[in-house]
Amino acid sequence: MIIKARYVVPVDRPAIEDGAVVIERGRIVAVGSARELPGRPAEDYGDAVICPGFVNAHTHLDLSRLAGRISPGPDFIAWLRRLMAMITAEPATRQRVHQAVRAGIAQSLESGVTMVGDITRTPQWTRQVLSASSLRGVSFGEVTAIGTRRQLLSERLDAALAEDWLYEHMKIGISPHAPYSVEPAGMRACAERADKCNAPLCIHLAETADEERFTRECEGPFADYLRGLGVWDELIPKSGRGPVELAKRTALLGKRTTIAHANYVTDADINRIAAGSASVAYCPRTHRAFEHAPHRFRDMLAAGINVCIGTDSLASNPSLSILDELRFLRREHADLTADEIIAMGTLHGARALGFADVAGSLTTGKMADLAVIPLDASNAAAGWNSIFESRQPPIAVYVSGELHRNISEEPVR
Ligand SMILES: [Zn+2]
Repeated sequence: MIIKARYVVPVDRPAIEDGAVVIERGRIVAVGSARELPGRPAEDYGDAVICPGFVNAHTHLDLSRLAGRISPGPDFIAWLRRLMAMITAEPATRQRVHQAVRAGIAQSLESGVTMVGDITRTPQWTRQVLSASSLRGVSFGEVTAIGTRRQLLSERLDAALAEDWLYEHMKIGISPHAPYSVEPAGMRACAERADKCNAPLCIHLAETADEERFTRECEGPFADYLRGLGVWDELIPKSGRGPVELAKRTALLGKRTTIAHANYVTDADINRIAAGSASVAYCPRTHRAFEHAPHRFRDMLAAGINVCIGTDSLASNPSLSILDELRFLRREHADLTADEIIAMGTLHGARALGFADVAGSLTTGKMADLAVIPLDASNAAAGWNSIFESRQPPIAVYVSGELHRNISEEPVR
């Protein structure tokens, strides 16, 4: 099958004008100029851009049920309290989780996202839906265990990993939630377990400025938050270190780890992350909604860190579209090149999640996961990067060479 369009953007090499992609049995077998690739195209998308499917490196699909029901603002902990209150008032049930994850998957695919790093509090239910979908990626089981709940650690670690049906398109990962919800010993236990079973890791780290006071001295707003939750006890250790240094000492900065946010980092932290080879998932619109200090993703890129893009959940972000995030970045950072922007939203995400040899770029041999984005007729001559100026969603999305189906109608095992 051949598909063509005015531009093909492979990401691992320069864009091709009048390009084509040849797909066989779900894989890309050739990418190049339409003139040089013989055969009649199954589809000629005309004034459009064919690019790799987008990678949402950090999201929580099961929170899609809270879409638009709590608004983020400068007080992160107030938002967290509202979130927890809502989860308590409407506890997760199999049906609610299935519904939310299904809605999240449908929204992802419609926006051109073909791979996710998804964190779930209820792996047993989320994975029933995710594994039946065509999305690729990692399902991270979330682990929280602090204070009076520290003894739940091993049970939660088992739950995060417990799966006897692993799928080729979906890996199982572990997410020690954050340094204010897992103690250093628990963080280390997650890292060791991940090491043993070669599982990807994800942690919310240095998300707010207050986190440092908590990891160093066990004081400040996060200590009060834990008291409010009723889980505080005097045995929670003071590490005497900032969150990134603590993550390093608990073996959480390795290549297998995606750090969500890293909003408050020093030069030394950037060096620590670069030295460990962890990836950073920057969530541009969620970052803005919480009114954080400017993100240092450009310093991170300059230090050689693999910076990828996430949306976070619909409890803090208006959509699950990585293309929307990239368009936001383009508006905010006019000097970033289109190549840099699209790489963060595709190949870097695949690298972070351990799928770089499977997808993330239009490369011969990789799976044919791609998005087709229309160009406004008036902009088409201006180059492929005008997809960032337009507001149009993709007109087609392929996963493993198949046009995506309406997953809300797919049966759940
Ligand atoms: Zn998150």
